Amino acid sequence: VALQEQAIRDSLTGCFNRRRLDEAMNAELARSARSGHPLALAMLDLDHFKAVNDRHGHGVGDAMLAHVTGIIRNQLREPDLLARVGGEEFALLLPDTGEREAVPLLERIRRKVEETPLPHADAPIPMTVSAGVAEARPDIEPGRWMHEADAALYMAKDGRTALDAGL
Ligand code: GH3
Ligand code: MG
Ligand code: MG
Repeated sequence: VALQEQAIRDSLTGCFNRRRLDEAMNAELARSARSGHPLALAMLDLDHFKAVNDRHGHGVGDAMLAHVTGIIRNQLREPDLLARVGGEEFALLLPDTGEREAVPLLERIRRKVEETPLPHADAPIPMTVSAGVAEARPDIEPGRWMHEADAALYMAKDGRTALDAGL
């Protein structure tokens, strides 16, 4: 069991890894196509994370990744899947969730992250996260779907309008 867990989880944060996300995206796309229920994919990325590493060291950066992951998990429901897909980038697969429900969830996550800085010796270290979301369509290709969620994330990063960014 431990070896199986290692194959699908990221050891630093306990999040699922890219491999497990890809499997789940395929399975949930098929399920959503059958049921007609909505399905959303969100991408989240810590803002200015490189500066945290530069100022406080890689160990504090690692602690921040674990900390933010805990905050995100507290906002999720049972079927939601959180995966770490890059250094400080996460994907959220949200079954039975349309963009209309995903946007307030992401806004709540964004606010909780902002409200819960990382405890640190001198003073708590503030963090913010940006997010974008894309709803699945019938027959959408998984790579294309993730690209759309990523594009929404980058629009949020660029400070484009709330509607464009999906937030
Ligand atoms: P932006 O606001 O545009 O998202 O900028 P950013 O600084 O968050 O993003 P950038 O891509 O410039 O830097 C990401 C940094 O994340 C660089 C890399 O060294 C660091 N990183 C990646 N993986 C890890 C990790 O596992 N632990 C730590 N501590 N740092 C990591
Ligand atoms: Mg970043
Ligand atoms: Mg990034």
